[in-house]
Amino acid sequence: MLKIENRIGSELIPAKSGNRFFKVSPHDGIAIVDVARSSVADVDYAVSIAKEAQTGWAESSAVFRGKILLYIAAAMSKRLDDIARIVALETGKSVQEAQGEAGAAIQLAEFFAGEGMRLFGQTMQSGNPNKVAMTIREPLGVAGLIVAANTPIANAAWKIFPALICGNSCVLKAAEDTPATADILGEIATDAGLPPGVLNILHGYGAEAGAPLVQHPNIDVISFTGSSAVGREIAASAGAVLKRVSLELGGKNPLVVCDDADFDLAIRWSLLSSFSNAGQRCAASSRIIVFDSIYDDFRDAFILATESLTLGPSNENDLGPVINEQQLNSMLKAIETMRNEGAKILTGGQRLLDDTHKSGFYLAPTIIENIARDNLQADQELFGPITCLYRASNFDDAVKLANNTAYGLTAAIHTRDVNRAMVFGRSVKAGVVNVNAGTHGSEPHFPFGGFGQSGNGTREPGTEALNVYSELKSLSFTVDQTAT
Ligand code: NAD
Repeated sequence: MLKIENRIGSELIPAKSGNRFFKVSPHDGIAIVDVARSSVADVDYAVSIAKEAQTGWAESSAVFRGKILLYIAAAMSKRLDDIARIVALETGKSVQEAQGEAGAAIQLAEFFAGEGMRLFGQTMQSGNPNKVAMTIREPLGVAGLIVAANTPIANAAWKIFPALICGNSCVLKAAEDTPATADILGEIATDAGLPPGVLNILHGYGAEAGAPLVQHPNIDVISFTGSSAVGREIAASAGAVLKRVSLELGGKNPLVVCDDADFDLAIRWSLLSSFSNAGQRCAASSRIIVFDSIYDDFRDAFILATESLTLGPSNENDLGPVINEQQLNSMLKAIETMRNEGAKILTGGQRLLDDTHKSGFYLAPTIIENIARDNLQADQELFGPITCLYRASNFDDAVKLANNTAYGLTAAIHTRDVNRAMVFGRSVKAGVVNVNAGTHGSEPHFPFGGFGQSGNGTREPGTEALNVYSELKSLSFTVDQTAT
């Protein structure tokens, strides 16, 4: 069994209380990692070390910081297989999928390394002819980073690299379901030359280690990826002391299939968008809205395709288990509630209990229809392999249905009509809109984030992430022209 301690400064140290917890494999429920269980005292210590290290890091040039990020990217590439093995072990996804995710994390390091050569401000014209004015970016101080376990290496990279390039030091509270993934990233960063104390990693539960990090007076910015419910708590706690906070939250993402869509392509993307990573994607298509005239054909083909998916942790499988038993049980409960309210489960809806899967946290890929448009349960993010089918009478009705949610993260439309695509792109309430593709997320240089309950208006990654992790300062010089 792996043993994972907090990584603070140049030390690997257990929680001050001595408390620990076990992380179990989602594939078979067996304990695989023995983890330090941090609380307030550990948060205090990690923040003090991060604060001390931040001054020197901020004083180095952004170009130098970019070089270190490039070294980290190179070291991650060298250890790609180690990273992927650990991500796969902790999440239950296939090694191949984990390799793809690790590749995305490396690209994030490379992109933000390049930003070290720019870190642009602006030059501005002044009304005073003797004035030269500009904006420059300054670090905030210590960044508190809290992430979810669904794409653990990418989620951490998404925050750590922009925070570092801006000159902040970091305390990452790893997701409790993926401690070893966070740890290998810390180990690689240290080996690649990141100065001690600039990146510190804490393990533990949200209430015990995450909340004290948010509340800590020496944390200058909190960046959080997780559920909207926890995001609201964090916003309230950070708001009370006017702490900057960036929230990357949940989604209830619509994928619209019009009557003129490429049918096979729409099926393929619906399948991938709903069920890849076992539906544990903030951008997953959890609502598929199909034009009435093709609804029956689409439903039949979609059920057939879904029932052909295979579940397991190997590269040959289409999807793995969900991350933990609590998550599985909450989905089963939500399905039951919807069933009791008149929804029809077209396929799936139950835990897999055959010999291969029964010890793991496997939910059969689930398609639900006949859900009332005002069903509140149907607007809860379930974060698993579950999607709901809706029938739209026409284009306007499809847009109305797509926007019938408190969230607004991603959306997709399948159509050959450029006018429909454009009108949808403009009118759908979502931070990311894709035409003839899935409700997938972003690339390292694209801003990502959502409307409504999906966030608080910030965008990460892309150059926009620099706005989360730096303070813009307006600087002006008044020049005495007579002195020349
Ligand atoms: P979660 O909100 O339960 O937990 C996320 C993280 O927050 C964990 O590290 C947890 O320990 C910590 N946490 C929990 N309570 C806390 C508290 N009171 N104070 C501080 N930290 C606390 O979410 P989850 O179920 O682990 O992850 C799934 C959620 O993440 C989904 O809603 C998904 O949509 C969202 N997500 C969003 C994005 C995005 O970019 N928008 C990406 C991935 C996942």
